[in-house]
Amino acid sequence: MKKITIIGAGLAGIEAAWQASKSGAEVDLYDLKPEGRTIGHESPFLGEMICSNSFGSSSLSTSAGLLQEELKHLDSFFLKNSQKFRVPAGNSFSVDRIRLAEHLTEEIKKIPSINLICKDVDHIPESEGPVIIATGPLTSEKMSEKISDHTGRKNLFFYDSTSPIVNLESLDTEKLFWASRYDKGDADFLNIPLNEEQYHELVDDLLNAEKVKLKDFEDKKFFEACLPVEEIASRGKESLAFGPLKPVGLKSNPEGDDHYAVVQLRQDDASKKFFQLVGFQTRLKWGEQKRIFRKLPGLENAEFERFGRMHRNSYINAPVIITGVYQSQKDPGIYFAGQLSGVEGYLESICSGLLCGLSAGKKINGNSLSEPPDSTASGALLKYIKGAGWADFKPSKFSFGLLPEMKVRGKSKREKKLIRAENAIKNLEEWIKKEGI
Ligand SMILES: Cc1cc2nc3c(=O)[nH]c(=O)nc-3n(C[C@H](O)[C@H](O)[C@H](O)COP(=O)(O)OP(=O)(O)OC[C@H]3O[C@@H](n4cnc5c(N)ncnc54)[C@H](O)[C@@H]3O)c2cc1C
Repeated sequence: MKKITIIGAGLAGIEAAWQASKSGAEVDLYDLKPEGRTIGHESPFLGEMICSNSFGSSSLSTSAGLLQEELKHLDSFFLKNSQKFRVPAGNSFSVDRIRLAEHLTEEIKKIPSINLICKDVDHIPESEGPVIIATGPLTSEKMSEKISDHTGRKNLFFYDSTSPIVNLESLDTEKLFWASRYDKGDADFLNIPLNEEQYHELVDDLLNAEKVKLKDFEDKKFFEACLPVEEIASRGKESLAFGPLKPVGLKSNPEGDDHYAVVQLRQDDASKKFFQLVGFQTRLKWGEQKRIFRKLPGLENAEFERFGRMHRNSYINAPVIITGVYQSQKDPGIYFAGQLSGVEGYLESICSGLLCGLSAGKKINGNSLSEPPDSTASGALLKYIKGAGWADFKPSKFSFGLLPEMKVRGKSKREKKLIRAENAIKNLEEWIKKEGI
């Protein structure tokens, strides 16, 4: 009997495996874990969210909120389980990412039709059944070479960075204040208020600090949505104050003035022990991170659970490689899922894995899956990566800008987005029915 082979059991891979197993297919799911690790993963568990613990806002009028809603309608394994590990984070959907990954691993192991195999796969297996490659942005060198042999082009890759995590107990919380921006939701963020002098000292420190050097072959390209803090600082003295450190809507008390800048700390685990410095992805040397971030008020004695760091990020040139539902033009039995396929972000990776799993499940039963309508987030993202300009292609998140225009008069921006989101859900529901999912 034909099997579905999935390489990589990260966010996309486990979602694909679960969806494929619903079709009755047998699935071989390979991962380096628990024995091995990529340079970025820290736990032995599958489906590990590697950096931030947040899926973004849950509000339907936001890109993240619409994608979450679509994933719910599509019966996403990842999202369904994530609900059980929610941690307070105002209006956004954040989770205890390590406990979630542990739970997802247990759930996958319980499914009899999924064979979990620990192996560092170094080639694309020849198989009569569909093969889903979901090895992620940190795909190993050997596997990357084999992928570029298949695609006929060199993989594009660039560098990204993660933000530091500190231990709450080690902070002087008297100097900080709890609040969510504009008081939306509960006061879940711990905020560090900075005056003008403190802010400019931080900017100068970031600019002058020692950074981890890029190697000769490394191209200095970053995710625009996840830029290192020192990179943002280098774009202008006030760019952080208008970016991740913007103080608007964050007051220490109702009558108080806005601060010059505010560094936000977001809860990282359910037990509320660890907090991430929001927007502080960095490639500063670890000693420099300790020295500079301990100058922030309240962080004088901060214990760092994790420092920010550099990492590789691989993805294929989707516009020239992908056809159908994340399938290879050269061999539609081969799928690319997750970040490697040219989508960017947790939700986007889950979404592409989900569609690959559904499509492979249908394929093995002699059927095919049509693409979700362009008016849905899942369909618009797929359409975008296939049709984007290939000369300078970069992984993409979903945004409302990818949806087709819809004429709605006399409404606020938020209301217009809400109408387009409701339209997307309605069209997705019709597609789900038509496909018999
Ligand atoms: C450091 C870093 C930080 C990021 N931070 C964020 C963030 O904060 N928010 C966000 O939305 N997105 C973030 N992303 C982008 C992206 O959303 C995540 O990387 C997401 O995990 C991608 O899902 P994936 O399934 O494609 O890959 P992964 O979740 O990385 O899964 C890939 C899996 O494949 C396995 N694997 C790799 N190579 C092999 C091999 N040769 N053989 C067998 N198994 C293999 C790995 O062990 C891993 O389990 C980040 C990316 C990186 C690299």
